[in-house]
Amino acid sequence: MSAGVLSRSTIARRSREIGLAVVGVTTAEPFADLEPYVVDHVERGHMAGMRWFTAERARQSMNPVVLHPGARSIISVAVPFWSGIVSPPDDGLLRGRIARYAWGRDYHVTLKQRMRRLVALLEAESGRSIEARVLVDTARASDRAIAARAGVGWHGKNTMIIIPGHSSWAMLGEIIVDFRLPADPPLAKDCGRCAICIARCPTGAIVEPYRVDSNLCVSYLTIEERGPIPHELRSRMGTYVFGCDICQDVCPYTAAAKVTDDPDFRPRSIDNVFPSLGFLATMTEEQFREAYSGTPVTRAKRSGMARNAAVALGNTGDPRAEPILIGMLLAHDLPLARGHAAAALTQLAGDEARRTLRAAWRAERDEYVRSEIHRALTAVSV
Ligand code: SF4
Repeated sequence: MSAGVLSRSTIARRSREIGLAVVGVTTAEPFADLEPYVVDHVERGHMAGMRWFTAERARQSMNPVVLHPGARSIISVAVPFWSGIVSPPDDGLLRGRIARYAWGRDYHVTLKQRMRRLVALLEAESGRSIEARVLVDTARASDRAIAARAGVGWHGKNTMIIIPGHSSWAMLGEIIVDFRLPADPPLAKDCGRCAICIARCPTGAIVEPYRVDSNLCVSYLTIEERGPIPHELRSRMGTYVFGCDICQDVCPYTAAAKVTDDPDFRPRSIDNVFPSLGFLATMTEEQFREAYSGTPVTRAKRSGMARNAAVALGNTGDPRAEPILIGMLLAHDLPLARGHAAAALTQLAGDEARRTLRAAWRAERDEYVRSEIHRALTAVSV
């Protein structure tokens, strides 16, 4: 198919009509300039939990033809989702926080549906079938590198793509197509001397400009980590229980982000934004599914959310957290939750917490939980 069949303006118009607000085009040439960075990132061990993403896989991911043998161009799309500043309700409950992108429907589903619809519209416009591959958040293609080369946005030092008028609050996706389109130029912008996100990351995960060590990233720890969270990081995680928005919240470009109200990204309830920590600490599988099915939060599983709630409860430093943590330590069915509850109790360390830790030490049989209780008892008796 030739480039002349579909104009760039037709693609932009059709994209906007179906909720793909920002669109850019780049070639299907390999991302050769990115390869040394990605390979270095893998070799430094900054991609925690992704052992399968070897240097060889990283090299392959730099070449769109590996994903689509007929690749000629890539349409990069972005769906903004900034909905303004919100605060938790003052209803007497201890509440955690969920990262903004996960408040609504699973963006993988939403973006793929919209991109497939765009392909169908472009087929109707051109009167030809299009061989297309739609991608969202796939480790084999770098959404961000594609968006930057297509002029959708530019790389921020927090590694996010910053889009004019939307800051970094947008979901990214791409459609690899079998026809050539004129490519858009990358935006000639950068962060300049700003380094606010680096200074404000609570765990120091932005180890240098444009480089995040996922071993330290609250987003990775709350979502992808399946086991215990490193002790030294727990107290720095605040009340985030799924993902983290801090490096985007503090970015000066966020002040200029347009408020959008995309129905697919609206939360179903306040618990999709500021979940009750008491609920997360006690919920059954069925209650977890009922509250979060169809949203990205399911990725963390009930075990991850209960663990994260224990960490957040400790970090509140609020005496109301103590009975919730005591209940978790004594009765939660998951050792991961009991262990994190034991550790979190040291941040409250009332007499009741000490008594419960001693009782739990006598009753607990799980080796991991016992190690957490032992550590907690040592901490509260010094
Ligand atoms: Fe760039 Fe500053 Fe935003 Fe970080 S906070 S991404 S350094 S503009």
